Amino acid sequence: MFSKILIANRGEIALRIIRACRELGIRTVIVYSEADRDSLPVRLADEAFCIGPPPAVRSYLNFTNIISVAEVSGAEAVHPGYGFLAENAGFAEVCASCGITFIGPPVEALEKMGDKAVARKTVAGAGVPVVPGSAEVVVDPDHAVALAEEIGYPVMIKASAGGGGKGMRVVYTPTELKNTLQSAQSEAKAAFSSPEVYLEKYVEEPRHIEFQIVGDQYGNMVYLGERDCSVQRRNQKLIEEAPSTALTPVLRRKMGEAALKAAQAAGYHNAGTVEFLLDKSNNFYFIEMNTRIQVEHPVTEMVTGYDLVKEQIRIAAGEPLGYKQSEIRLDGWSIECRINAEDPGRNFLPCPGRITAFLPPGGPGVRVDTAMYPGYTIPPHYDSLIAKLIVWGRDRDEAIVRMQRSLEEFIIDGVPTTIPFHQQVLGNAFFRRGEVYTNFIQRRVLAEEG
Ligand code: ADP
Ligand code: ADP
Ligand code: MG
Repeated sequence: MFSKILIANRGEIALRIIRACRELGIRTVIVYSEADRDSLPVRLADEAFCIGPPPAVRSYLNFTNIISVAEVSGAEAVHPGYGFLAENAGFAEVCASCGITFIGPPVEALEKMGDKAVARKTVAGAGVPVVPGSAEVVVDPDHAVALAEEIGYPVMIKASAGGGGKGMRVVYTPTELKNTLQSAQSEAKAAFSSPEVYLEKYVEEPRHIEFQIVGDQYGNMVYLGERDCSVQRRNQKLIEEAPSTALTPVLRRKMGEAALKAAQAAGYHNAGTVEFLLDKSNNFYFIEMNTRIQVEHPVTEMVTGYDLVKEQIRIAAGEPLGYKQSEIRLDGWSIECRINAEDPGRNFLPCPGRITAFLPPGGPGVRVDTAMYPGYTIPPHYDSLIAKLIVWGRDRDEAIVRMQRSLEEFIIDGVPTTIPFHQQVLGNAFFRRGEVYTNFIQRRVLAEEG
């Protein structure tokens, strides 16, 4: 096992990794930008090194500075968290060449799954259903129109290097496709430094169902059930739950086995997530694989009892999995609400600022993953996540009531938050019946407001 790990991230996920390391008896080194000097992970890690100014390109994405800290501090491994360098094959390669373990999948798997067009091809080749669409990157408008003719409208233009819910456009006609293609390509280039886009059939009102997988370096791999992340706004997840109201044990097994096949096709090991869309006739289609720990991993931890961050570290250290698919049990129901410093009344405008009061909820079945404290100032340079509120209940009804009770208890003063919005969703009759799909917020919640 490692004796020292460098954490190349910030906020709640950095703290989450520190906690896992502490329990494993591993010392922690954190790197931070000038904007994060007063952050909780910087105080709680065993060692902390400033690596640059606030813009991420000069700090959290700065390979050279991060690797230097690893070498100076004697860290044997780097945990990248999510976002930043987590899915960066170049960074993983540099780590390897310096003899530092990257806590994540092998470089080849990052390469295969990092580009969505390549990932589609890889998993389709292994017999996993993918959303009908282009087999390759789109070259020019005529090529795109010909492909869309085969797929059938509406189609979605997606960036191969896209992520974070960005880089997607739906088009309904050939003219619209021709007119949109070029701007989609330049947007992709600006946001993800690659202009490559591909086409997918636009699936109407699907659910987003993703499978957590974990595999060791010796070919053992299991799925730890699914997460239903259908409650989204602008293709970004807001509420996640495990299990999903849409899955029967038979469908769960079918999708879980497809997720394993997808991961195996990329030569994957460590923890990862295979994302699918599920349509109204229960057809499922692969959309992408996230080759890292995911924001919503706690709901899986709550229903399976596994600590996914510890699993990542154990696997990276070369330990065998030690359990089989038949030993995985799903117990009860878990829901997560992402509480952001955003104003739902002003189109979810990010509102970073000083937190004057902070009193998280507690009691049975409640977990809060956050790096906030009273008097902390949320810097404007990064995402607006304040806290992840996670609850567990014996069944979905208990989890919902517990979430409502916890949202009511939560005191956050100083910045607007999305708590009132979550309360509205939790009270929505369709949500309570489990009737959710990716445009549910648009159709059922925001529409309510008129
Ligand atoms: P999850 O799939 O874990 O729910 P999100 O889609 O919310 O994660 O993304 C997690 C974080 O990573 C967010 O801060 C998001 O903006 C960032 N992110 C993920 N992929 C990319 C990417 N390709 N480019 C830029 N940021 C990304
Ligand atoms: P990201 O890398 O940004 O997470 P994904 O490919 O995972 O991108 O898609 C994010 C979300 O966008 C999905 O959860 C879904 O709501 C929507 N989406 C993606 N592809 C399609 C599609 N072909 N049809 C309908 N919705 C889609
Ligand atoms: Mg995704």
